[in-house]
Amino acid sequence: MDLIPHVIDGRETESRGAARFDTVDPWTRKPWAEVAHGGADEAGEAVAAARRAFDTGPWPRMGFAERGAVLHRLADLIEEHAHELATADTTDMGKPIAESTGKDVPRSAANFRFFADHARLAPAEALPMDSGHHAYTRFEPAGVVAAIAPWNFPLMLETWKIAPALAWGNTVVLKPAEDTPASATILARLALTAGMPPGVLNVVHGFGPGSAGEALTTDPRVDRITFTGESGTGRAIARAAAANLTPVSLELGGKGANIVFADADLDAAVDWSIRAIFTNAGQVCLAGSRLYVQREIHDAFLERFRAAAEALVIGDPKDPATQLGPLASLEHYTKVRSYVDGVPEDGGTIATGGLGDGWVVRPTVVTGAPPSARVSREEIFGPVVVVTPFDTEAEAVAAANATPYGLNAMLFTENLSRAHRVSAALKAGTVWVNCFFIRDLRAPFGGVGDSGVGREGGNFSREFFTEPKAVVMAIDVG
Ligand code: NAD
Repeated sequence: MDLIPHVIDGRETESRGAARFDTVDPWTRKPWAEVAHGGADEAGEAVAAARRAFDTGPWPRMGFAERGAVLHRLADLIEEHAHELATADTTDMGKPIAESTGKDVPRSAANFRFFADHARLAPAEALPMDSGHHAYTRFEPAGVVAAIAPWNFPLMLETWKIAPALAWGNTVVLKPAEDTPASATILARLALTAGMPPGVLNVVHGFGPGSAGEALTTDPRVDRITFTGESGTGRAIARAAAANLTPVSLELGGKGANIVFADADLDAAVDWSIRAIFTNAGQVCLAGSRLYVQREIHDAFLERFRAAAEALVIGDPKDPATQLGPLASLEHYTKVRSYVDGVPEDGGTIATGGLGDGWVVRPTVVTGAPPSARVSREEIFGPVVVVTPFDTEAEAVAAANATPYGLNAMLFTENLSRAHRVSAALKAGTVWVNCFFIRDLRAPFGGVGDSGVGREGGNFSREFFTEPKAVVMAIDVG
């Protein structure tokens, strides 16, 4: 079996005592590779390497154009190695290959291109003062960034963190999720090939609590922690980071509301709503897992929605025709299964779907579940949607906001005023009107409430990954 090593200070390494763990292909349900099992020692070595590269290496001292050229070369290499990277993520977590090849890998390359150019072109404020002085802002790199990533969009979410951190001159230690280690090691190799100095991008594999993840969050040599994952983990990381007052950016869980008004374009609303919940087998923080449909069109919508859910192609994620693969791991399948099994007890009905073969959960549509049901309230992170009718706009907004989460919401309407009014009323970091998952990398991305702390994207990433410094200068203009 292959070994997936750490990449620390430009070298591929094993852990002390050659400790390893298996990574499992969720379609075959068998281990497909071994992974170097890092703990506090390996995380510490990676932080030391990143610290050296930051304190004495060329990366933070390069001009934006020179650094940007390396990041663009890395983007080129990601595109050239698209098949290898896409296969790594699909084998690790069962994402359909059409998605990893067609979306995740191109978006990963785009992350590097965008943030390289954004950092080079971003204007900084200069403030002429009345008193014979002027002030300006320098955006200086923050230092060593610990990036801790989830397994649902492995390469894509890792690059979403790493690209702005590197573009602004920081050095990075990435800890990928234990279920999806492979693409991160490939990425670190490609970064070295692109000309990134050793120690600038380090990858350490391991687990969270009591392992490499926790060690990164408690290390005083780390200047920023950027984390994507569950809300409970976010709380643990915020607590750990508080000891060193390390700033954290937390992109956490969600229970996205999707509101379809009677005046919506029905076909488009069905199509987007299907994508919103069944893409990546519902293992999407942004999933539209609470679907509210206005009563006049509820039955017609449900009929089409159900038919579209049943038409999705389930199968081997490496088959380009597959639209829905297995869930990412046995542990995760067991969790999602408990929600599906609990639907009758929750007071709901499974209109279509249920359990499939192996670790597959079929596209599952639940009706009749009350707001108090577990399936209505908790993040399932699987292909399970609760459909509920509503009568008035106010009722829909109140239902959508009745959650501790606030990552995103969707609404479908042809009424312009309603689109603006409801967008303003929804408690969410992102609202999509008549679409889903369309991103502009300049826009803020993050959540309110239990869905996160802070925003990333464009200038928001600059705020997090730099230390803005005010320089106030006396000027004598004669
Ligand atoms: P998770 O919280 O279990 O793990 C995420 C990462 O944190 C892993 O690398 C894990 O090893 C590490 N970790 C766990 N405990 C830790 C600790 N105490 N200290 C340091 N590191 C620790 O999340 P997951 O199951 O991998 O991902 C699914 C979750 O991620 C869902 O809740 C989903 O909504 C969320 N998510 C959010 C976004 C977003 O942008 N808001 C995007 C994708 C996924």
